[in-house]
Amino acid sequence: MNIHEYQAKEILGSFGIPIPRGRVALTSDQVERAAKELGGHCVVKAQIYAGGRGKAGGVKVVHHPEQAQELGKELFGRRLVTPQTGPEGLKVRRILVEEAVDIASEFYLSITLDRSTSRYCLIASAEGGVEIEEVAQKSPEKIHMLTIDPFTGLRPYQARKIALALGLSGTLCEDCVTLILNLYRCCLEKDCFLVEINPLVVTRAGWLMAMDAKINFDDNAVYRHHEYPDMLDYSQLDNLEINAGKYDLSYIKLKGNIGCMVNGAGLAMATLDVLKEFGGEPANFLDVGGGATREKVAEAFKIILQDEDVKGVFVNIFGGIMRCDVIAQGIIEAACEVHCALPIVVRMDGSKVEEGKKLLFESGLNVQIGENLGDGAQRIVKMLG
Ligand code: ADP
Ligand code: MG
Repeated sequence: MNIHEYQAKEILGSFGIPIPRGRVALTSDQVERAAKELGGHCVVKAQIYAGGRGKAGGVKVVHHPEQAQELGKELFGRRLVTPQTGPEGLKVRRILVEEAVDIASEFYLSITLDRSTSRYCLIASAEGGVEIEEVAQKSPEKIHMLTIDPFTGLRPYQARKIALALGLSGTLCEDCVTLILNLYRCCLEKDCFLVEINPLVVTRAGWLMAMDAKINFDDNAVYRHHEYPDMLDYSQLDNLEINAGKYDLSYIKLKGNIGCMVNGAGLAMATLDVLKEFGGEPANFLDVGGGATREKVAEAFKIILQDEDVKGVFVNIFGGIMRCDVIAQGIIEAACEVHCALPIVVRMDGSKVEEGKKLLFESGLNVQIGENLGDGAQRIVKMLG
């Protein structure tokens, strides 16, 4: 789960990590007022769920409150396109106005979950501010990594090794050790998947400060933090993904035209693979889960049909826990409700499969039954061909 930079900075601040003074604004008048309060010379930062804003014109220095207001007018409502947003970009609805800090040097610092070791991994580089992926590719020796043992936690000597590798010495080095230990504490307590400070800066006055912040909460731990759902900015999410979330469905939009409804993530992956094999292009990945109910299936079906790119639907359900006749009822209910005339191919197996097929045949929908996964995939590709 993503949050905005200003929210991430608030959290970092609460763990003792120095952040610039700032105010969030929802209108250009608020931008002006915030700039006035901060003394006029400040940085206006568009808040979207993506990085790379600086280069895209979403982070700018201004010298007067009026200039801040003008920039606010320009940014609000605009879709900001960065290398991380995709071509449609993301709409700017909130702006962070921050004091302009005199920066002496920029670093990269993050902690993220490394799935291969199932541990947190600390990543740091003296080449901050720019795209870290590029540094990693061109000069990997400039990236310092440390896997953190969950039993011992992050030890001060390890943090010091990183701070020294960044070229810091004296009090700055010790400040950085404290900052890194606080960052790790934040990661653990807030159940983060990623905490990233890029850039972490040394100011001309000689202080460390987090100039940008990105926090990604681990979705599996959101239930432990009741305040997290309220932190979401729905304007940054895909509408269909929001709906899917309400019904606890895993839905991811893809680029093709075949809507897919499958139970179980493994089966969903296999379904996409087989569709591709036969020349089809999936429009989405939708997993209704193992114990899908009729209502869930109906909602999933409606979500798929709301996607205008979808020209046909492929349902691949293994009715191990779920009865096939119940699935069939869900599909028929949803398809009738939204007057679906699109071609549908259903491949079902498991309990009450014959009853399920019979219901579908008698439904009057434009539906074919696939004998197996391959046959089903071929049928939907052919129906759209
Ligand atoms: P993004 O990573 O999305 O481009 P950042 O928040 O990192 O956005 O901002 C881009 C650059 O702007 C930073 O690398 C930093 O050099 C500069 N910057 C950001 N905030 C401030 C600030 N408050 N004062 C001075 N410079 C800033
Ligand atoms: Mg940044």
